[in-house]
Amino acid sequence: MADRVLLVTGASRGIGAATVRLAAQEGYRIALNYASADKEAEETAAAARAAGAEVALFKADVARADEVERLFAQIDARLGRLTHLVNNAGITGPASRFADIAPAELARVLDLNVTGALLVAQAAVRRISPAYGGAGGAIVNVSSMAARLGAPGEYVWYAASKGAIDSLTVGLARELGKEGVRVNAVAPGLIETGIHARSGQPDRLARLAPSIPLGRPGTPDEVARAILWLLSEAASYVTGAVLNISGGR
Ligand code: NAP
Repeated sequence: MADRVLLVTGASRGIGAATVRLAAQEGYRIALNYASADKEAEETAAAARAAGAEVALFKADVARADEVERLFAQIDARLGRLTHLVNNAGITGPASRFADIAPAELARVLDLNVTGALLVAQAAVRRISPAYGGAGGAIVNVSSMAARLGAPGEYVWYAASKGAIDSLTVGLARELGKEGVRVNAVAPGLIETGIHARSGQPDRLARLAPSIPLGRPGTPDEVARAILWLLSEAASYVTGAVLNISGGR
């Protein structure tokens, strides 16, 4: 199998970390990006290395253009040309009604979830697409069911940021289809990670679980399995799709 180099952004914890652990079992060489959680990033990398994978850690704030540029230059140097991307890093900001969110918080979410995701996708396309000398490959963007449910009373601005991810996915898929680059997204529902507590709602999953048709929140592994499938040749005729991983929500 040809050398596959995968970048997962926001991979110290949660869905990104689960993706790294599963990708390690599938033979990818892995660039693990994170922002601040050194210990968690090291633990995730150690678990992936225990499965036999080559893993390099890259601490970078992907909301910032200069750091995205530095991140990709470092990946080029340490792992070689990228073939696969999981565009995962994301935040919600503190839960509140829309009219009450501070403009600075709103900007922080859009800077990472929209601008950061676009910058990471752009740098990745310049490595992956044969139009830029790449070998082809696949991108999976991490959207959210919030893009279609709207997250009223919690984080409408976050839902809007994920709507942008859905548009990015369909547009890039159509732009790159004939170049051998597939672009898809997953739309997780309520998943057991620390993101809910960080938004100030530690009880969110327990409170909303009864509204989920499958009757329970999902696990990061359940999202990661779908991401790995979309990255793989098993999904060779899938592009421009946004796959709900939401227990029917
Ligand atoms: P999480 O547990 O809070 O993990 C977030 C990850 O993103 C961490 O590794 C964090 O790194 C990283 N990160 C944060 N800011 C960053 C930045 N500026 N640059 C680089 N990395 C950064 O979140 P999660 O629940 O796994 O969420 C992952 C993705 O899934 C997000 O896009 C989220 O919107 C989406 N999602 C989650 C759910 C859910 O219910 N959990 C549902 C729908 C969609 P540090 O640890 O180093 O800070």
